[in-house]
Amino acid sequence: MTEIKAPKRLKKIYEGKAKIVYETDNPDMLIQYFKDDATAFDATKRGTIIGKGVINNKISSNIFELLESKGVATHFVKQLSEREMLIKRLKIIPLEVTMRNITAGGMAKLLGLEEGIVLEAPVFEYHYKDDSLHDPLINDYHALALKLATPEELKLIEKVSFTINKVLKDFFIKRDVVLVDFKLEFGKTQKGRVLLGDEISPDTCRFWEKGTNRKLDKDRFRRDLGSVEEAYQEMLKRVIG
Ligand code: 5GP
Repeated sequence: MTEIKAPKRLKKIYEGKAKIVYETDNPDMLIQYFKDDATAFDATKRGTIIGKGVINNKISSNIFELLESKGVATHFVKQLSEREMLIKRLKIIPLEVTMRNITAGGMAKLLGLEEGIVLEAPVFEYHYKDDSLHDPLINDYHALALKLATPEELKLIEKVSFTINKVLKDFFIKRDVVLVDFKLEFGKTQKGRVLLGDEISPDTCRFWEKGTNRKLDKDRFRRDLGSVEEAYQEMLKRVIG
């Protein structure tokens, strides 16, 4: 395997709610820096979860490695430091994909369901990535009509999302964690290859402890449940332990 030369961090090109993205001296690679900032409800609620950036970088790096080992193409190159991850440069497709195994959050609200119902089959959703519109639920016809992606790209995104759900469900249940739901983002390389991007962490997934249903994710922050930092630490322990 060829050793990847440590890239030089250059100028900031984007700052989001939880991460900062920097250019590097390699035009095909970026660095994403994980912050401790936390937001919810389209950034109307703001706070800090101490140590979150370090934990999410570590958890995401481990999950991306796991997914790559199962044949899922991701933007992950390597973890560079506690808060920095080297990634392939992508043009993010403005779709948020959610996969759901158990009712919670947006699906429970949309359909007037209680949380915690085990779904007969996983639910795959597209949301249009736009905070000012509250990331509305759309379908593949909207995605095509708005030219967000091609039919082939949508087909690939759907197939890969189901694979990811299967791999992650199996991985977490072995650690006594139920994968309730999660959000994915995909992007395209300059050559047009679709890769999984963003992060996979307690910020982007709902994790419930098996048996007790104790929440081990960002819902502790969103809903003011307390012990937020402890939940993130617990998830790190379970992922790397
Ligand atoms: P819901 O649609 O129920 O709010 O979210 C479904 C899943 O996707 C949850 O695991 C949630 O954490 C994740 N998710 C959905 N939208 C976002 C988002 O804008 N930011 C983050 N960090 N996670 C999201």
